Amino acid sequence: MSCFAGDRIGSTRAYSGHGNAPPILEPVRVVWRGNILRFARAHASIRQGAKRVARLTISLLYYIALAFWRFALQLTGRSPARRLVVIYYHGIPDAYRSKFVRQMESIRRGAKVFPAFHRGSLPAGKANVAITFDDAYVSVAENALPELASRGFHSTIFVPTATLGGPPSWTMEEGCPDSCEFVMPAEQIAKLASPLVTLGAHSCTHPRLSRLTLSDARAEIEGSRIELQNLTGQDIRLFSLPYGDHSPSTIELCREAGYEAVFSTIPTSVDTKGPGFVRGRVKVDPFDGRLEFFLKYNGAYAWAPYVSALKRTLRNHWQSPAAHLGLVASDRQGRRS
Ligand SMILES: [Zn+2]
Repeated sequence: MSCFAGDRIGSTRAYSGHGNAPPILEPVRVVWRGNILRFARAHASIRQGAKRVARLTISLLYYIALAFWRFALQLTGRSPARRLVVIYYHGIPDAYRSKFVRQMESIRRGAKVFPAFHRGSLPAGKANVAITFDDAYVSVAENALPELASRGFHSTIFVPTATLGGPPSWTMEEGCPDSCEFVMPAEQIAKLASPLVTLGAHSCTHPRLSRLTLSDARAEIEGSRIELQNLTGQDIRLFSLPYGDHSPSTIELCREAGYEAVFSTIPTSVDTKGPGFVRGRVKVDPFDGRLEFFLKYNGAYAWAPYVSALKRTLRNHWQSPAAHLGLVASDRQGRRS
């Protein structure tokens, strides 16, 4: 389908922008542009795959190192800290339901499931996991909730309140599978809450909150809570940040709006005995491999934010001298003119 789109774009441009070109060259141009698009997509896909394998390898090493550390602690009579790993999905399309089932079976064998809002102690022995879904897609109600209910697993669903019953209206990456999804309609959301399902707000229109004015961000954060409370009759106490995007003032607005916890997309585990307001989460997909999923719900991707911070520091360090030189050069140029 995408190749067809590329060819179509190529042919439209050829006829509208190059009316005097010899007609015999048009098919060559169309094929050439189509090949470039195909090559660019293949290159992006290979890069994504290589990054995923690199992350998986580091996570495996991190997991092994963590296991040694826990063992060493136990030898000295101390018990390692127990933490909650909150995972988050988006949609669970029909084609991936069997893979989602396999993942839930992995959790049933290797973890204990808690609500995402859990505070207090956690048991030892297995991983402790909370399951959440962002964007409240219809496919979650159809394919995930029955599987979770049959296993007695609790989940939390975060709802963008201005898009109920329609397709996602926010910006997504090209080729994102969620572009085929639909957000649950209001009447479905209203009946969703149960002892096994907690609802949380996910803003009204799913914007990047840190880019809004304070009053617009407040309207998104407070407004979605009020709308969801009116719709369900439930007290809405949890909020998930769209894209994980936030600033210190976003978090402060969430506190002022009356939320008890805010969920980010930073893959750190949660200290459920601490007073932490912002809780990290690990992104999972139904198409994650067995080892990849196991490592994710065991908290083995917790290294990622530290590496990102290190990369940012190094980038700033190397960019600063260049920026300084650029500033000096432009300053000199300014003096000359
Ligand atoms: Zn979202």
